Amino acid sequence: MYGQGLLKGLATTLKEYFGGYTTQEYPDEYPNLPDTFHGSFELDVDKCVGCTVCDRNCPNSVIDLKINRGEDKKKEIVRFKVDLTRCQFCGLCTEGCPTNALKFNQEFELATYNKEDLILNLLAEKPTQTKPKKKKEVS
Ligand code: SF4
Ligand code: SF4
Repeated sequence: MYGQGLLKGLATTLKEYFGGYTTQEYPDEYPNLPDTFHGSFELDVDKCVGCTVCDRNCPNSVIDLKINRGEDKKKEIVRFKVDLTRCQFCGLCTEGCPTNALKFNQEFELATYNKEDLILNLLAEKPTQTKPKKKKEVS
């Protein structure tokens, strides 16, 4: 039918026009991020088996991992650092983790004046970081 494309375009325009807002008022409101968002990292050290897959998978040698073996031959994670200045957030480390010990969280506000702040010591971080609190309400 002649003009079918035009009608389809108009229908899309009208649907979007009356379909409500999709704009998110960041930074006044925290954005709705998907669960799969690659923000900062968190480690559940109790789940980590010290296999070093994350370290070996990383194309940029971002993960600084040190594991000791005790007298009982059990692995002990003594250092687990991630240098975000070199991380490309590709997810090869988290995807390869067999126990889901290493995960991304939704923290994306990582800008800082101090480069040292971007070297995460995951043994010192709480492994249960969730979405930051919603910021002030928009009036
Ligand atoms: S996200 Fe990619 S670059 Fe960053 S630490 Fe993991 S494997 Fe390395
Ligand atoms: S891949 Fe997972 S379990 Fe293995 S060392 Fe890394 S965080 Fe620990």
